[in-house]
Amino acid sequence: MPFDLSSVLAAREAAGLKRQRICLDSGQGREIWVEGQAYLNFSGNDYLGAASQPEILQAWRAGLERWGAGSGASPLVTGYSQPHARLEAQLCDWLGVEAALLFSTGFAANQAVLKALLGKEHLQWQDRLNHASLQEAGAASPAPMKRFAHNDMAHLARLLAPKRGLIISEGVFSMDGDQAPLSELVALSQASGNWLMIDDAHGLGVLGAAGRGTLAAQGMRANQVQILMGTFGKALGCAGAFVAGSRELVDYLANFAREYVYSTHLPPAQAEAISAAIAWVQQADGAREQLQAHIALFRQGAAQLGLRLGDSQTAIQPLLVGESEAALILAQRLRQRGVWVTAIRPPTVPAGQARLRLTLTAAHRPEDIARLLSALAEATA
Ligand SMILES: *Cc1c(COP(=O)(O)O)cnc(C)c1O
Repeated sequence: MPFDLSSVLAAREAAGLKRQRICLDSGQGREIWVEGQAYLNFSGNDYLGAASQPEILQAWRAGLERWGAGSGASPLVTGYSQPHARLEAQLCDWLGVEAALLFSTGFAANQAVLKALLGKEHLQWQDRLNHASLQEAGAASPAPMKRFAHNDMAHLARLLAPKRGLIISEGVFSMDGDQAPLSELVALSQASGNWLMIDDAHGLGVLGAAGRGTLAAQGMRANQVQILMGTFGKALGCAGAFVAGSRELVDYLANFAREYVYSTHLPPAQAEAISAAIAWVQQADGAREQLQAHIALFRQGAAQLGLRLGDSQTAIQPLLVGESEAALILAQRLRQRGVWVTAIRPPTVPAGQARLRLTLTAAHRPEDIARLLSALAEATA
């Protein structure tokens, strides 16, 4: 046997880190069904409830009728069609960028950018809490990676070298829900002559005017960063991702990013659905306000219960627990009370920082938040 899978899996299980997939009997929503049981769902990323919006579903259906089930080829062969081109143009209008390129997943988009751009002559500076897709892409590139303490601009400034490469951060951090200090990152990148890449998977759609994301929320423009990445699988309720920046950047990636060139393009019907999702999200101020109201309600109630929340004003609300086993037990107690949350354990988060990652959405109702709080009060008693 060349691979000893069973002992590796057994060790992971013994450490309380073995993952089990949960098979849902329902679609995404404020309620999910698992093994015949209904739960209030506080662990999805469909922050605005877009995944069930009728106009988005209808656009996907109409796209299937018009364009067929799949794209048929990679984008440089015959897989690139009008719905993809329209979606790219729509992203440019919405976000104020010159050009955009579509990917099937955010994971692939991050691999594509870092591996196509970084050579061994470059350096990369990554926030320690960057998503796995950024850290793995960085590790797979030949450029040495310097990791700076989370949101610590003084630390980053000490590590920077002039005109050597790429600074990489998220807009909203996926496991902590806090935001990067984007104007300071822009200033450091400009002063040092390095490029800046922002992965806004969790800010796009949720923050800023018309849901333009974390940059807009912090009073910045998207063209103040060289590379903006966003995904369609979170607040846009679909799946897929984009990389935006200059026309030259997009031309370069379309030529040299292997994840783009050698992969079947996303289905045109999906691009039509994403276009409808953007149109919906742009005018979803009501949903964004509802989400903010739910966040305020939850944080107020959690403070009264004395719960240890992270410092987050976004839909991602981490409840810090510490040990993996304790986080699993707490998640289990909540499930017994009809509330579905996910325990996040190392290596997704640093050792000793296991947590419940609670996510709130616009689709929740105030009474759902009240039920979550009373379940938390009982489960932590
Ligand atoms: C979800 C996520 C990704 C990956 O996007 P997918 O489309 O799910 O592959 C990348 N970066 C961040 C910060 C994410 O949260």
